[in-house]
Amino acid sequence: MEICHQILEKIKAYDTIIIHRHMKPDPDALGSQMGLKYLLEKHFPDKHIKAVGFNEPTLTWLAKMDTVEDSDYQGALVIVCDTANTARIDDKRYDKGDYLIKIDHHPNDDQYGDLAWVDTNSSSASEMIALFAEATNLDLSDFAARLLCAGIIGDTGRFLYPSTSVRTLRIASRLREHNFDFSELTRKMDTISFKIAKLQGYVYDHLEVDENGAARVTLTQEVLQAYNVTDAETAAIVGAPGRIDSVSLWGIFVEQADGHYRVRLRSKFVPINGVAKEHDGGGHPLASGANSYSLEENEQIYQELKNLVKNS
Ligand code: AMP
Repeated sequence: MEICHQILEKIKAYDTIIIHRHMKPDPDALGSQMGLKYLLEKHFPDKHIKAVGFNEPTLTWLAKMDTVEDSDYQGALVIVCDTANTARIDDKRYDKGDYLIKIDHHPNDDQYGDLAWVDTNSSSASEMIALFAEATNLDLSDFAARLLCAGIIGDTGRFLYPSTSVRTLRIASRLREHNFDFSELTRKMDTISFKIAKLQGYVYDHLEVDENGAARVTLTQEVLQAYNVTDAETAAIVGAPGRIDSVSLWGIFVEQADGHYRVRLRSKFVPINGVAKEHDGGGHPLASGANSYSLEENEQIYQELKNLVKNS
């Protein structure tokens, strides 16, 4: 793949490479970021390769970030993984380097970077990093393979979502050949705390489902506090409504500390990213995020979801 070789040429040309990813990271954001970091460290031991961003407490078992000084950006190559739009890039210094590369699998709504590799057919950004390694003949370390595997498992919902292609499974199988504790990784990714299990109970108890399968639940600050969970931890229950046979698409409205709502949207068949885009968000056709700034807007979003599934 020509684009991979173009990216490799840029990597070769810079001494410092700083790798970013999106805010509120998930395993794919961290997997692609750290998988790329370990890959490059293995093959370019003399370069300074850093991963930057907030250390998400629920995922520090998977990856920890480096300290990056402002001065590190001078003359650096910056690579942003798994992030569709600049507003969602974690650490706003991403534009302080000399050259910017975007590697992403979301729809290319915000075209940024001096060079962009966007592949919406890829299950995950981690799958793209594994492809990059394959295309450029750079073999992966076991560390890198573990991180990329975590990213693919995360973004495919353990190979359940339609984005799981023949290629995804082939790449995952190659990654699995590496020497790391696969069952420990999958067990960790499948483990939830007792409080999250209880929150899941709340979600099932309070889920509103219309006659066509449009569902919603609201998690207010009060609920989050009662269950002692953070906004980031709600990631663990986003898929829960989808396990119900009568649910076709759903929104989880998570009240933020400032009073606005982060709306996590998921769908089994009908694309919902149009609704996300109308409400200060975006994302994949079947997994998107929006922001709502009032209870009225919450109602409006739910109505739009109901209309979508009704007219599908
Ligand atoms: P989440 O519910 O946060 O896991 O988000 C699911 C997907 O929606 C992510 O992979 C992003 O592609 C996208 N997404 C979430 N929030 C936003 C946003 N505010 N703007 C654009 N895309 C978003």
